[in-house]
Amino acid sequence: MTTEELRESLLSSAKNGYTGLTAKQRAEMEAYCKRYAAFMDACKTEREATAWAVEIAEQHGFKPLVPGMELKPGDKVYRNNRDKSIMLAVLGSESLNNGSNICAAHMDSPRMDLKPNPLYEDSEIAYFKTHYYGGIKKYQWPTVPLAIHGVVCRKDGTTVTITIGEDDNDPIFLVSDLLIHLAADQMKKPLAEGIAGEQLNVILGTEPLEGEGSDLVKLHIMKLLNEKYGIVEADFHSAELTVVPAGKCREVGLDRSLLGAYGHDDRVCVYAELEPLLDMGTPKHTAVCIFADKEEIGSVGVSGMQSQVFDTFMQDLCDATGASLNRCFENSFCLSADVSNAFDPNFAETCDKRNNSQLNYGIAIVKYTGARGKGGASDASAEAMFHVRDTLDKAGILWQIATLGKVDQGGGGTVAAYMANRNIVTVDAGVPVLCMHAPMEVVSKLDCYMTMLACKAIYLA
Ligand code: MN
Ligand code: MN
Repeated sequence: MTTEELRESLLSSAKNGYTGLTAKQRAEMEAYCKRYAAFMDACKTEREATAWAVEIAEQHGFKPLVPGMELKPGDKVYRNNRDKSIMLAVLGSESLNNGSNICAAHMDSPRMDLKPNPLYEDSEIAYFKTHYYGGIKKYQWPTVPLAIHGVVCRKDGTTVTITIGEDDNDPIFLVSDLLIHLAADQMKKPLAEGIAGEQLNVILGTEPLEGEGSDLVKLHIMKLLNEKYGIVEADFHSAELTVVPAGKCREVGLDRSLLGAYGHDDRVCVYAELEPLLDMGTPKHTAVCIFADKEEIGSVGVSGMQSQVFDTFMQDLCDATGASLNRCFENSFCLSADVSNAFDPNFAETCDKRNNSQLNYGIAIVKYTGARGKGGASDASAEAMFHVRDTLDKAGILWQIATLGKVDQGGGGTVAAYMANRNIVTVDAGVPVLCMHAPMEVVSKLDCYMTMLACKAIYLA
């Protein structure tokens, strides 16, 4: 054999997905990414994504899973978990005792939540005080256009939904930063300290009401909110209002090969898991997806992946078909779909390039996440990795191997460990992202498309 032939037969060779992309695939990819961008424009919080998923699922024949109902192959059911997360299933032709194919992702993204007592006035400027949610580089958030999304439960028991800053006619909001001219001290600080958490205060207005007394700007803002939404200051105590980057998902680059948006992590995987489920037909194994909340703060709480809500949903599915939950979990497979860090040549020193995901090389398969000595990782077995590799290869889907940065550099986690703790074989995989957790994150259209195809293949495996 020549060295060329040996190289061909012995060495692995990843290739850029644009090599050999057919015109048909390209058209499908572009159409898919348009639908994904529309989803992103409509959904910036887990609540909005849950509502969106319920609506599209019902349009496709999904029904709420009610305890006691009987299910047969091909039936489509969902459970809305308190408007904050959602699970969907398409019943397979085989018993749930033989396991289900699960795709899991999370719908929450880093942002700035309003504090329970948010409204104040200082120097005749009214502000909302915020408490950041998830891992953010605080210095990235001042001087970018912001929007307010969320709900307020009013004293009379009714709930009002608030979205301000997304419509072209809406005002936007802003956190201020210090002018460079006076930043001599600030510029000497480490990046982590350049902007403090207590400086992430959102400007609401400056016009005082006419009259006597203090805080007339604050009073003006409260009056405006009351007129529009019927709320009073105490209603903020029973509210979930969050400040996110304003604006739409946009194509990035002259060749338009990338998509820039707030919150690709992890709604890019949510959409990739949701779409193939909608028109699935009857799979062999029951296809299940869960879109969890609270991943960015540890998958905790009633809407996080550690919540029993997933077990209850699966138990109800098993009860409705005469199967055992333990057998079901033991024989199930889960693709924990979450984003990975795309290799960024600007910060090459942080990554092991040979083991890092790269834009346009397809869905990134991640054997383990975690930090340092794999701390906190769900380290997938050889057999589990083979299952994914084999399934994707047979379906002709472009994939790549990934780890999260250099060994000693840092790390992160996903919902994978919480699935694996349930006795479900789990592998991490997802879309490579540039500037993860920044107000605008960037993904490649090709990787988005391949991730959707991969989820479809896993459901049908
Ligand atoms: Mn994530
Ligand atoms: Mn994240």
